[in-house]
Amino acid sequence: MLKSVPSARDNGEKMIKGSYDVIVAGAGPGGSSVAKTVAEMGYSVLLLEKRQEIGSPKRCGEGLTMKTIDILGDIPKNCITRRIKGATVFAPNGNHVLIDYGEEGGYIIERKMFDKWLAMRASRSGATVVAHSEVTDVLKDGEKIVGIKATIGGEEEREIKAKVVVAADGVESTVSRKAGLDTTNQLVNIDSGYQYEMSNLKLENSKRIFLYFGNEIAPRGYLWIFPKGDDVANVGIGTGLTGRSAKYYLDKFIEENPGIFGQASIIEANSGAIPVGGFLENMVLDGFMVVGDAAHQVNPIHGGGLKEATLAGEIAASVIDKAIKKNDVSEKVLSEYSKIWWKERGSKLKKVEKLRQVMEKLSDDDFNMVSESLTGDVAIGLTRGGKMLSLAKILMKKPALVKLARHLI
Ligand SMILES: Cc1cc2nc3c(=O)[nH]c(=O)nc-3n(C[C@H](O)[C@H](O)[C@H](O)COP(=O)(O)OP(=O)(O)OC[C@H]3O[C@@H](n4cnc5c(N)ncnc54)[C@H](O)[C@@H]3O)c2cc1C
Repeated sequence: MLKSVPSARDNGEKMIKGSYDVIVAGAGPGGSSVAKTVAEMGYSVLLLEKRQEIGSPKRCGEGLTMKTIDILGDIPKNCITRRIKGATVFAPNGNHVLIDYGEEGGYIIERKMFDKWLAMRASRSGATVVAHSEVTDVLKDGEKIVGIKATIGGEEEREIKAKVVVAADGVESTVSRKAGLDTTNQLVNIDSGYQYEMSNLKLENSKRIFLYFGNEIAPRGYLWIFPKGDDVANVGIGTGLTGRSAKYYLDKFIEENPGIFGQASIIEANSGAIPVGGFLENMVLDGFMVVGDAAHQVNPIHGGGLKEATLAGEIAASVIDKAIKKNDVSEKVLSEYSKIWWKERGSKLKKVEKLRQVMEKLSDDDFNMVSESLTGDVAIGLTRGGKMLSLAKILMKKPALVKLARHLI
C-alpha cells in the first residue's frame, strides 16, 4: 500500500514543538536578528512569519548603510543591487548639496533576498523558522506572557509555550497590543510611505541617491530616488499628515519631471507607514519584549529602520540570555533591554526626532536658505543626531528662526 505523503502544511505543523525558550513573531530584520542571536547562544527559538514569502512584498527603499553592513557581516551578492557612493540633496528651489560618502555610503539591496538571507542565517544558527504562520494571540498566566497562539501554515490555531515572547511584527504590531503593551503611536509621529520600483529611467548618476525636500514636494518628509541599476530605481516618498496622500505627491513629482521619468515604467508599487518618533520608554512586560518598527525604532529624519531593528534585536537577545540564565524573565529583569537601548540608541534618536520637529516648521524659503550654507559633513552628522549646533548657527542667520534654532541646542 502507498504511504500517504505529508503535505507541506503537515511538515510545518510537525516542525513545531510544544514549547521553546524564545518565540519571535515576525521574520523581518528585527525578528531575524533576535532569533539568530538567541539561537547562537544555544536557546531553542521559534521564528514565525505570517507572510507566505519572507521579505515580500517589500515596504522599503532598500537603502542600507555601510555601518549596518559592519554589524551584519558580509552580505551575499544576490542581496545587493548597487553600491552607493554619494547623495545629492535638493532644496525646493533646485539648489543642491552634494554629499560624498567616501569609503562609507552603502548599498541599495534587494529586500526579497535580504530578509530571506537573514531568516536563513537564523535557521542555520538553530532557530526554527516557519513562514505562512501568524501569531494570533499570546498566552497569559495572570499578567505574565507564557506563550502564543498561532496558525501554523494557515492551519487551525494552536498554543505554543515560551519563556520569552518577542513581538517583531512591524509598525502595526498587533502582538504587543494583545500582550497588553500599548505601542500605539501618535499620528504626528507616523509618515505615510509610497513607492514605485521603476525601470527605463534617465538617471544622471546611478551611484548616487537623490533626495528632494520641500513642502510642495514632500510635506514634512522627502522624496527619494534610490538606484538599483543604470536605469532602475526605487522612487518613493514619505510625508507627514497632509490633506493629500503620499501617492498624490509622488505621482505629481513624476509628472513634473519628464526628463527622468518620461519613458519610465512602474514594475512594482508599495506603500507602508513609517514611525518617525514616539519612542517607547518601556518595551517589556513579564515574559515579553518588542523590537524594531513595532517599538518605533526608526531614524526620524530619513525613516531608515534596518540598522535600528538589527541592533535592537541584538540588545534584546543579550538581555534574554541573562534573564533565562537567572531563571527570571520578569519585567524587572527584561527592562534592562529598554535601559540599554535608550543609552545606546534612544538618546541619539531622540535628538534626531527634535531635528525632525524643527525641520517640519521650516518654510520652503528657509530650506533654500539652509541649503546655501549646509555642507555634506553637517548633513550626514545631523541624520546621526550630531552637528545640531552647526544647523542652529545656520538657522540663526534669519532672526525669525532664532527661537526654532534654540530648540536644537
Ligand atoms: C516606504 C518605506 C521605505 C523605507 N525605506 C527604508 C530604507 O531605505 N532603509 C531602511 O533602513 N529602512 C527603510 N524603511 C524602514 C524599514 O523597512 C523598517 O524599519 C524595517 O523593515 C523594520 O524591520 P522590522 O523587522 O522591525 O519590521 P518589518 O520589516 O516590518 O517585519 C515585520 C514582520 O512581521 C510580520 N508579521 C506581522 N504580524 C505578524 C504576526 N502576527 N505573526 C507573524 N508575523 C507577523 C510581517 O509580515 C513582517 O514580515 C522603509 C519603510 C517604508 C514603509
